[in-house]
Amino acid sequence: MSKWTAKSLCDYISSRPELLAVTKKYPFRITSHVASLIKHPGDPLWLQFVPDSRELENDGGYEDPLGEESLSPLPNLVHRYPDRVLWIVTSECAAYCRFCTRKRLWNKKVHIDQRSIRDVVEYLRHNKRISEVLVSGGDPLLIRTTKLREFFSAIRRVKHISVIRVGTRLPIVSPQSITRKKMDLLREFQPLYVMLHINHPSELNDPVCEVLSRMADCGIPMASQTVLLRGVNDRAEILRELFVKLLALRVRPYYLLQADLMKGTSHFRAPISEGLRIMFELRHRTSGLAIPHYMVDLPEGGGKIELTPSFIEAVCENRVIFRNRLGKPAFYPLFHGEKRVLRRLLLPRLE
Ligand code: SF4
Repeated sequence: MSKWTAKSLCDYISSRPELLAVTKKYPFRITSHVASLIKHPGDPLWLQFVPDSRELENDGGYEDPLGEESLSPLPNLVHRYPDRVLWIVTSECAAYCRFCTRKRLWNKKVHIDQRSIRDVVEYLRHNKRISEVLVSGGDPLLIRTTKLREFFSAIRRVKHISVIRVGTRLPIVSPQSITRKKMDLLREFQPLYVMLHINHPSELNDPVCEVLSRMADCGIPMASQTVLLRGVNDRAEILRELFVKLLALRVRPYYLLQADLMKGTSHFRAPISEGLRIMFELRHRTSGLAIPHYMVDLPEGGGKIELTPSFIEAVCENRVIFRNRLGKPAFYPLFHGEKRVLRRLLLPRLE
């Protein structure tokens, strides 16, 4: 049984001036559910949710690492890719993750009124290439169901929007908040995908597994994003356990994300070389269904790109030499003239 509660964590922070100073800029918020899962200072949940004085260091990061403000044609609407938009409908979360990319919003109130809903609908109508809207924040599932229904209904009024995605951590940090009413709402606006955020297997305790199973039974498709975090999950066996568990819960492990260059979060960042090494190990030891794409979201709105470890040792005149899972060479023949094309495709990765 954990000795930590939301109250005892508040007291802990209040008694330390260096942590109190952090919370003035980046507030502290945690649910009783998450607090109860913390076993000791420095464990994976503590690191994710309890403030750290390094958050105030100037580590060369950005306030808005993905350049979302400059890619917003309307307040709270980010249009980075031709076929998708991100609609930030709240700045609040049930618990604040210390590495969050949108920490800049925590002290701001995002308010979506009728006028801004109309503006978003108008924008979507005029941009016919957009087929998908990611409703995110903050955590949209914190918003009351009637208001959330207004957002989803507004999106559904635009005929060329086929898919809604909802980014949330609520089922993980507060499983009891996922009521039947919320599930019915998510089902009502299908095709609607719930994009969860889960970083460590210890987050998947019984109440969380139960709620995820109920959501799957309800017919709500779910995928999960995991941020690669130093000291939290930067080991292949931890991530393997997490991804295999998620798969069994009918949640597709979708992305393993390299941490964004958010200001004051460099202590969370694992090197890209480490991420690739982990992916290399996972590829050899895990069902393909349980392997996410390893992505880096480039700074200043450069967009997401996938990072993949190379299994190619050499490209010869008539064959490619691979390294197999036992570390042994294996060959595959090339078509005549293919070597030049292949080298052009691969070289930047091998340099
Ligand atoms: S749940 Fe998502 S938006 Fe909310 S604090 Fe965590 S990372 Fe940020």
